Amino acid sequence: MPQWVFPREVRRLHNENWHTCMNPLLNLSYEPAFASLGEDFSDEVAAAEFPGEILRFRNDDVLGQLGLKVEDVTDAHFVEAFGKFQERKPLLAMRYHGYQFGTYNPNLGDGRGFLYGQVRGKDRELYDFGTKGSGTTPYSRGGDGRLTLKGGVREALASEALHHLGVRTSRCLSLIETGEGLYRGDEPSPTRSSVMVRFSRSHIRFGTFERLHYFGRKDLVKQLLDHVITYYYPHLEGQPDAYARFFAELVQRVARLVAQWMSVGFCHAVLNTDNMSITGESFDYGPFAFMDAYNPKFTAAYFDHFGQYSYGNQPRVCQWNLGMLQMPLALVMPIQDLEAGLGGFTDAYDTAYQALILKKLGFEKLSDPLGEDLVRATITFLETSHSGYHDFFLNLTNSFQVQWRENITFTMPEAWCKLYQASLNTLPMEEMTSVGTCLKHHNPVTVLLRPRIETAWEAIAEADDWSEFHRLLKAIQSPFEAES
Ligand code: AMP
Ligand code: MG
Repeated sequence: MPQWVFPREVRRLHNENWHTCMNPLLNLSYEPAFASLGEDFSDEVAAAEFPGEILRFRNDDVLGQLGLKVEDVTDAHFVEAFGKFQERKPLLAMRYHGYQFGTYNPNLGDGRGFLYGQVRGKDRELYDFGTKGSGTTPYSRGGDGRLTLKGGVREALASEALHHLGVRTSRCLSLIETGEGLYRGDEPSPTRSSVMVRFSRSHIRFGTFERLHYFGRKDLVKQLLDHVITYYYPHLEGQPDAYARFFAELVQRVARLVAQWMSVGFCHAVLNTDNMSITGESFDYGPFAFMDAYNPKFTAAYFDHFGQYSYGNQPRVCQWNLGMLQMPLALVMPIQDLEAGLGGFTDAYDTAYQALILKKLGFEKLSDPLGEDLVRATITFLETSHSGYHDFFLNLTNSFQVQWRENITFTMPEAWCKLYQASLNTLPMEEMTSVGTCLKHHNPVTVLLRPRIETAWEAIAEADDWSEFHRLLKAIQSPFEAES
């Protein structure tokens, strides 16, 4: 394989001094929310210095959310802020523990990232800029603190794909190649390096609370919980039962999130409690995969030997993770309140999942028992036939005809056709076209399946050709439209 060489002129170019005061990314109104929690929650760290920086991806959509004009932010501004990390202080490595594959690990924390800063979006919500691959920290445990370029490309693609499919997810704000050669067991090495800046609702994890429980710090659990409510659940602030309502709402948010993953056929792959956000947002995409053929046992991480984090296990695992979070929270609130909150998981998940699958079947609404029967029959068919999950729904979308009210001409078991026909007949004739529209709005033409990512990556690795990456990016950003 030809070895691509990091260009020398880039190193020179980026060694020049930029006019930092003009950089809109450095001039945002940063708010030290997490930093205000104090020294018990993080360590101040310095960013690595890289041999050079090349901007590979910038998220102009996110710039808009930050109230910035795309034309005011140059590529050099991105490199200066999110590749060189000049000007900003403190850069905080966050402390956390977590259950990894069911086992408690007290040796975690930001080992290759830090909280760069926090800003308000145009929606007045607080957002984090968190790095990945920015150098070692006290939590690196012998690791190099780096992110491979392929890992960065994959996380950028995953978060864009999920966002445009309607999943509540972090985004990748920038991906910068950093000119080092990294050694990894799961990539031909040396492999190219990168640093990513993630835009997310919060990097406070279930594991941030678990660490405080481990040290028996009831006072800090209370402090962190009050912080989380103030910043991420402000509608609960000052309410007498705020803690109970917080947990109940988190349970609902997580249940809805898993339902979203399941409906888009996404397997996160590393559902450790340090990868679970306290805001119920999806983040941290490592060995993730979108499933092709429907299979609850589908497992994305090569190191997940027992399929613990398989596609089909995701609802159960997230419920278990919420169960573990009860332990730290029980230090400051009645266990009965926690149990009542967690008791809402199954219903919330089932309701959200059914509504999402019904949309993929063309129905904005369909009452039970018909709705429930149709979803069950569809999933049973997919499972027994090993059909392509996305292929099935796309085929349905392309085949659908209004005449199916009278007679279904679609190759499916008779029982399914009867259910589908009965479902169509619950709607008045004039709503038939809306079924077609609903199908088109919920069933992607482009899915970020592994072979597509690998093709894009091979062109980058072999010839530094980014055209396929950009083509794929464009397609997943408008997933319901035919690719041009
Ligand atoms: P992740 O798999 O990215 O969720 O990371 C799990 C834990 O391992 C976190 O504490 C990371 O900071 C740490 N980690 C992962 N990769 C590296 C690395 N290359 N160097 C240092 N720490 C790492
Ligand atoms: Mg992680």
